[in-house]
Amino acid sequence: MSVNQSIKPITTEEKANLTIGGCDLVDLAKRYGTPLYVIDEATVRGICRDYKEAFKDYSNIKMMYASKALCTSAITRILDEEGFGFDTVSAGEIYTVFKSGVDMSKVLFNGNNKTASEIELALNCGVGRFSVDNFYEAELLNRIAGEKGKKADILLRITPGIECHTHDYIQTGQIDSKFGFDLSQIDEIVSLIQDKYTNLNLRGLHAHIGSQIFEPQCYYDEVEILVREMARIKEKFGINLDEINIGGGLGVKYTDSDNPPSVTILAEAVTKALDKYSVEPHTIYLEPGRSIISTAGVTLYTVGSSKVVPNGRKYVAVDGGMADNPRPSMYQAEYTAQVANKLQAKNLEKVTLAGRYCESGDILINEIELPKLEAGDIICVFNTGAYNYSMASNYNRVEKPAMVLVNNSLSDIIVYRETLDNLIEHDNIPDRLKKQ
Ligand SMILES: *Cc1c(COP(=O)(O)O)cnc(C)c1O
Repeated sequence: MSVNQSIKPITTEEKANLTIGGCDLVDLAKRYGTPLYVIDEATVRGICRDYKEAFKDYSNIKMMYASKALCTSAITRILDEEGFGFDTVSAGEIYTVFKSGVDMSKVLFNGNNKTASEIELALNCGVGRFSVDNFYEAELLNRIAGEKGKKADILLRITPGIECHTHDYIQTGQIDSKFGFDLSQIDEIVSLIQDKYTNLNLRGLHAHIGSQIFEPQCYYDEVEILVREMARIKEKFGINLDEINIGGGLGVKYTDSDNPPSVTILAEAVTKALDKYSVEPHTIYLEPGRSIISTAGVTLYTVGSSKVVPNGRKYVAVDGGMADNPRPSMYQAEYTAQVANKLQAKNLEKVTLAGRYCESGDILINEIELPKLEAGDIICVFNTGAYNYSMASNYNRVEKPAMVLVNNSLSDIIVYRETLDNLIEHDNIPDRLKKQ
């Protein structure tokens, strides 16, 4: 079993209260307030080891953490210590990684509409690879690199005609996606690079076929297409590409009904395709995001009001919701939860866990059986490490929660809770509106 196959952080224990990383969650809630993001360091390091172990026979595999899943300075430090590089998609992520002391040659800059100023920042701080997404960007990057007297090492982002999300797996020749060059555009961009864009150094191909993937066959097919295209480019243009980047996407277990494959199974699908064609690109990049950080994270909430509606449904509201976790309202994502301070309780009841935001759709969990809840109870929602804080907003002008890192019974703040002053610090009142 690999870490992404667990719903809870690997250090979760049921003592008097629920504990993670040796820290009592009720104590954490008291000490730091709620809502509170909690990240278990041992779980993050555990999944990093799973990846390294699964690919240990392939010394040319390089892991890059997809920062968009959760990008903070301390998280970046942990992944850097684990030997990961970073897949970044904005100036903000590049800056965070740079300021955290990462060797920038291990960083890739990805995205379908990188701005000129982001490209300049990336070139100035020595980002190792650009994943060039489209014709416009190729020209822009070539020009800016030229102005700086630099050459940019690039991969071409391609849309391989495979799309894979959880249970649906689509293979089409002509995929409708805003990302990357489709297969029919590859020759045109390669010849532009060969003849005209002399500041671009083409190293390889890049694809990303989806997220929350449960089906290893998708990776096999993806690698097959990338390898086939590399061989074709070599034959037609005489260009020897030596890198492929197969993206991220490995799924995690949000609820009992999710059955993501282990990292070992993923590795088998990838290496089987590589071995079949006995091509050895010098470097194979993997960019896991969700599977690295989701399982390590939980969110603690305090129970407040509740109501029973005429059809019998009971709503229990907590002090957070769609602004700290937009996934349920955005894509009907499902979660599971436990009451941290009521592990022994016997009489369960079915409730709908609602958020505190002014939207009827702000429901965290629809119908979950929990011990009878009272105001002040501490709810722990599992598997919130990825795409929660990174997608959080200040909707309803609510301060974003703090984040703590737990390990060996120690807890440390890694993101401070926003204050009311933080909420107004970027506001400006024009002179003519100032109160006289
Ligand atoms: C989002 C993304 C990833 C990470 O995907 P996960 O599902 O979080 O593993 C990796 N590569 C690219 C190009 C992405 O857009």
